[in-house]
Amino acid sequence: MTRFIFITGGVVSSLGKGIATATLGALLQARGYTVRLRKLDPYLNVDPGTMSPYQHGEVYVTDDGVETDLDLGHYERFTGVSARKSDSITTGQIYMDVITRERRGDYLGATIQVIPHVTDAIKEFIRCDITEEDFVLCEIGGTVGDIEGLPFLEAIRQLGNELGHDNSLRLHLTLLPHISSTGELKTKPTQHSVKELQSMGIQPDILLCRCNQYIPIDQRCKIGQFCNIRPEAVITALDALSIYEVPLRYHDEGLDTEVLRYFSILREEIKPSLARWTGIMDRVSNPEGQVKIAVIGKYTSLLDSYKSLAEALIHGGIANKVRVELDWINSEMFEKESESFIRLNDVNGILVPGGFGERGSEGKIAAVTFARERRIPYFGICFGMQMACIEAARSGGGLLNASSSEFGPCDEPVVGLLTEWINSTVAEIRNFDNDYGGTMRLGSYKCQLDKNSRVYNIYGNALIDERHRHRYEVNINYKSLLEKAGLRFAGMSLDGLLPEIIERPDHPWFVGVQFHPELKSKPFDPHPLFTGFIAAAIKQASLV
Ligand code: GLN
Repeated sequence: MTRFIFITGGVVSSLGKGIATATLGALLQARGYTVRLRKLDPYLNVDPGTMSPYQHGEVYVTDDGVETDLDLGHYERFTGVSARKSDSITTGQIYMDVITRERRGDYLGATIQVIPHVTDAIKEFIRCDITEEDFVLCEIGGTVGDIEGLPFLEAIRQLGNELGHDNSLRLHLTLLPHISSTGELKTKPTQHSVKELQSMGIQPDILLCRCNQYIPIDQRCKIGQFCNIRPEAVITALDALSIYEVPLRYHDEGLDTEVLRYFSILREEIKPSLARWTGIMDRVSNPEGQVKIAVIGKYTSLLDSYKSLAEALIHGGIANKVRVELDWINSEMFEKESESFIRLNDVNGILVPGGFGERGSEGKIAAVTFARERRIPYFGICFGMQMACIEAARSGGGLLNASSSEFGPCDEPVVGLLTEWINSTVAEIRNFDNDYGGTMRLGSYKCQLDKNSRVYNIYGNALIDERHRHRYEVNINYKSLLEKAGLRFAGMSLDGLLPEIIERPDHPWFVGVQFHPELKSKPFDPHPLFTGFIAAAIKQASLV
């Protein structure tokens, strides 16, 4: 029997609802239960794929190739459960589905309304594709009171009744502000937020209150009294040193205990196994050294745009027992003055992450040159691999006008759409009638590694699976030129057409990958490429 937990947020946004959901998932796993985590986003976009990284942060990609909200990344990092297409929905998708059914005549002429048609579609989504999970956690995006969120709240109200209260739980995350001048904790915003939920027929069962200090028992009783909740189910959610400390904190505050008590399945004598999280926190709190990594990208003012990347670098630090300091640099600064490279003087590694568009690309190429010449560990991800290939073609291959067709027509498209660089051999291998040229390559693809390569040693495996999100590819027709320029084609798609990994055998650590390894890294299972990159940075640090 699957139990459902609905997570809503109140008072203000950015309280860490995604981390709270991921944490509860991890705590239930630590109690031996299986979980599935889902995100319901009230915005009208069909998916976040086309949303600006400035506004929306990172687009997280699943194995089965869907572009989703970055919270799904937190879910995977905390639980290790690979998210699927069916774990992410938006109002846009719900409406698209309802309208498609209406056009097909599925509703037999009925008047289509938010209740029941839209709410039915939401409920169908919440319950679909569940097999044997003990718990399904559904996070509702946004904050209670948002107009767009109303159909979702109505759907979970109805579902609560249909499933029965014994099989469903409502967890509400709120904020308890502390007024420093009077030294008071204010409960009123939480009371209002719960009232708002109650006005929609939803009674929260547990309150998780973000607060910068412990909530004293009298305040918990007061909140409980106003909100119809037992004081033990009013839980303090303190700010943590690292997000990976949150499972330990919330456990100490009784979150998982309360959830199991609610469902009447708490066995006091059984303690959860939290060794995984104490082990991670031990390494995070007691680093044996520090390395500095420059991340040279475009959206460096909004770190959520590179959420998984920042986490994967931290995981590489956890694996090597070092703290990783990140210096986020807008690549355009390397296009202006050469003195700007002073900024890179004390870095132990340079990483060019995924990116789109021409702006800042020359700065990224200049950063590749710097890393190559100074023998600083270089990690190029997706766009960062493409820029490394253009740099090699220009510097070692003599093709001064090497570029990517992403930036417009060019004489030497070292990077281009697959359909742009078809020749008869390529056409023979791939059936282009069925192939997509201009669309995104999304989701998991297999890659074959060269057994003589550095990456083969890093992975310890010749066949790997990694997630992609890009349109352009390194053009295989330039392979021999790029090899002469010093690159090794260390990983290829299974049909041998698409370069997936390049490396420089003559450099201490220089790797470019067409995929996004950061999406699969976990704190308890750091991605080998990040572990390898940080190990190389440590070596670099000990040399300078
Ligand atoms: N803009 C490049 C492409 O579409 C790279 C994309 C990325 O880095 N994710 O191929």
